[in-house]
Amino acid sequence: MIKITEKKNCCGCTACESICAHSAITMQPDALGFLYPIADATKCVECGLCEKVCQFHSNYKRYDNYNEPTVYALRLKDGEQLMRSQSGGAFWGIARHFIDNGGVVYGAAFTETWRVTHQKASNTDELEKLRMSKYVQSDMRGAFKQVKDDLRQGLTVLFSGTACQVAGLKAYIPAKMHSNLLCIDIICHGVPSPRVWEDYIAYLEKRYKSKIVKACFRDKRYGWHGAKETFRFENGKEITKRTSNRLYFSGISMRESCANCKFTNLKRVGDITVGDFWGIPKDSPYEKDKKGLSLAMINSDKGKEWFNKVKEQYIVEESNTADCLQPQLQYPSKMSPLHSNFAKDYANNGFLFIAKKYGDMGWRYHMRKTINRTKMLIYKIIWALHIKEKPKGV
Ligand SMILES: Cc1cc2nc3c(=O)[nH]c(=O)nc-3n(C[C@H](O)[C@H](O)[C@H](O)COP(=O)(O)OP(=O)(O)OC[C@H]3O[C@@H](n4cnc5c(N)ncnc54)[C@H](O)[C@@H]3O)c2cc1C
Ligand code: SF4
Ligand code: SF4
Ligand code: SF4
Repeated sequence: MIKITEKKNCCGCTACESICAHSAITMQPDALGFLYPIADATKCVECGLCEKVCQFHSNYKRYDNYNEPTVYALRLKDGEQLMRSQSGGAFWGIARHFIDNGGVVYGAAFTETWRVTHQKASNTDELEKLRMSKYVQSDMRGAFKQVKDDLRQGLTVLFSGTACQVAGLKAYIPAKMHSNLLCIDIICHGVPSPRVWEDYIAYLEKRYKSKIVKACFRDKRYGWHGAKETFRFENGKEITKRTSNRLYFSGISMRESCANCKFTNLKRVGDITVGDFWGIPKDSPYEKDKKGLSLAMINSDKGKEWFNKVKEQYIVEESNTADCLQPQLQYPSKMSPLHSNFAKDYANNGFLFIAKKYGDMGWRYHMRKTINRTKMLIYKIIWALHIKEKPKGV
């Protein structure tokens, strides 16, 4: 029977909950809204399946995946679709092909109340909801069983998610049913707290006295590299913020297992891995126009077969593992040393308190910002004077 003694050892993929035929496991949220399995000993028959299915360890199953992926930099040729994708649109081209050929696609989408859950798309309207990165851990409850039902019915299924979600799904689905399942794993920095996100939404709606009708974590209109969140309200107002991304990228609001991630390497679990192609030379046209470039790694024969079917939709450039080796393919992200204080403060005092203390809402943040700006200005003045005073030819 599964028992989580240390949070860092569970990524919340739901494979154990899904496989238990006795409904002995339920996924329950902690104070930050991250889900963990809780087993009911009175229902458990000690079959051991939940422990066996768990892939959050260094020897996770890789089936027939290649030891080293084939690497491409790519971008959708269709400029409009490119701008509607988070990076170069690697996901859209493949997913659209599935839908057009009668398949179904799973991925992370917002609910009507702006929670992030894994949802199924059977048509292009539903597929639209899966686009763009949501920097919140997606709630997977029910998704694995739904994928299995679809495969049983003979549907072709594309599942997209973080590597830990893909590893959990592939272990849960019996190997004999894998032939109609293609998995895309996304390169992953870590996932932030669902409850902080929900409280943030509630705070914004109260503050601006209107319901949010559109939310975006990394709005491409402000450049592909930017981390500006944008929100549009029912009353027509639109705002840009950084609060959520600031808490996320500083490693404060991240799930504990992300700092202990087993998948930050080139031994990928998906058939295809997609991410942002960071590290493009500054003079490259892809870097200059700031419209995004995808990294795509082909990790299996199945991935290669599907990629060949959609390749025409992209501008494709061959690359290699050395050129695409960003930190998230080498080691896990660091958890902020402030994380446990943050979690306690959040549990005791709520969203606004932590947004002021750790985020960009309070006087502390503005004071730090002013000090840093002043320091930078002084540094620039000293540097300029130094250059001026330098004798010619030195
Ligand atoms: C939490 C998170 C962290 C990331 N960290 C990195 C990183 O460190 N380095 C890097 O190169 N790329 C990272 N990415 C991936 C990158 O930002 C793009 O999502 C990816 O390149 C796909 O972009 P696209 O243009 O192909 O398609 P899009 O259409 O924009 O991509 C959407 C895809 O992302 C999936 N997705 C979105 N939100 C989530 C979520 N919360 N959980 C699971 N799946 C989700 C959807 O299911 C879909 O498959 C991260 C994405 C997320 C969600
Ligand atoms: S050991 Fe078997 S019955 Fe018990 S919780 Fe795990 S899967 Fe369920
Ligand atoms: S990592 Fe997944 S399978 Fe393992 S205990 Fe956590 S939820 Fe269960
Ligand atoms: S960093 Fe690792 S453990 Fe965390 S969500 Fe991403 S793949 Fe899963």
